[in-house]
Amino acid sequence: KELVFSGVQPTGNLHLGNYLGAITKFVTLQETHDCIYCVVDMHAITVWQDPAELTRNTREVTAAFIAAGIDPKKNIVFNQSQVTGHAELAWVFNCVARMGWLNRMTQFKEKAGKDRENASVGLYVYPNLMAADILVYRATHVPVGEDQKQHLELARDIAQKFNNDYGDSIRGRGFGDVFFPLPEPIIQGPATRVMSLRDGSKKMSKSEPSDYSRINLTDDADAIAQKIRKAKTDPEPLPSELKGLESRPEADNLVGIFAALDHKTKADVLRDYGGAQFSNFKSALVDLAVTKLGPIGGEMKKLVQDPAHIDAILADGSERAAKIADENMKAVKDIVGFVRR
Ligand code: ATP
Ligand code: MG
Repeated sequence: KELVFSGVQPTGNLHLGNYLGAITKFVTLQETHDCIYCVVDMHAITVWQDPAELTRNTREVTAAFIAAGIDPKKNIVFNQSQVTGHAELAWVFNCVARMGWLNRMTQFKEKAGKDRENASVGLYVYPNLMAADILVYRATHVPVGEDQKQHLELARDIAQKFNNDYGDSIRGRGFGDVFFPLPEPIIQGPATRVMSLRDGSKKMSKSEPSDYSRINLTDDADAIAQKIRKAKTDPEPLPSELKGLESRPEADNLVGIFAALDHKTKADVLRDYGGAQFSNFKSALVDLAVTKLGPIGGEMKKLVQDPAHIDAILADGSERAAKIADENMKAVKDIVGFVRR
């Protein structure tokens, strides 16, 4: 049976990239699938988080899920640290994954920067925890942005190695030949990697210091307009064909954002705006972005006014998530040979 899992870190400044690369996909998938959507607070502390901010950001991501249209009754919406199975399975996976596999992870290299000796051990094993997040539910499909593709491949390698290493034990317990499915990424559409508005070679990111690099989900109409107008572009008008976007990363990015917000392809957008100057295209993009994002930001701000309501949603979701995770963890413990109550 297909099961969807995905997560967003409560690291502040939820942005258009998170929305188009991940959250809109979550909303669509709830129509066809059982879905588990997690605020991954344990991932967040792989880099320092002020405790009060972490709490606030956890509620804000939850509010974003709900404001975007995710139904917390139909789906499971919760925060990671309330379900112990994530940490337990991550430990097993720390012992399944190989150092060599983790050494290849580009996100660690980017986030650790030059001072790698000073990066947290948690940041290094982040991909193992992410594999555990998915596999503790034996989830099969994971909607993510392009930047998470490599981590998904690692999760598949971990699942496969676990299935192989413990194959006899798995079969001996009547689970068939494999215990964990190999989870498939869902990375599709025109905005799987939204780039910074200031630099077409860097992804839009929560942790980027310049606020002008991203459109935050809580930005008001004025802020959205200013940021889009100031977005870096080249002097040429828009091309009429997709080919014309090659080697024009900033143009490609804005066209992709337009397409995703308007549920079109980039080719559709170029059919309408090919030959237009950026000033005109940007005005249309401002209108579209304000129309689509304005209500979500407004709803988020309303929802965070009532933290008790949000915490109740997370508590309910955590209970339902734990039922599935606990059951799977019993099986994992038996497979590994841990004595348990
Ligand atoms: P951080 O800088 O703290 O890692 P982030 O912006 O990368 O923050 P995450 O919480 O790590 O956000 O990612 C949440 C989801 O958003 C993931 O599925 C990720 O792939 C997706 N995502 C993040 N940035 C982008 C982007 N620029 N374009 C498309 N998807 C993105
Ligand atoms: Mg990230």
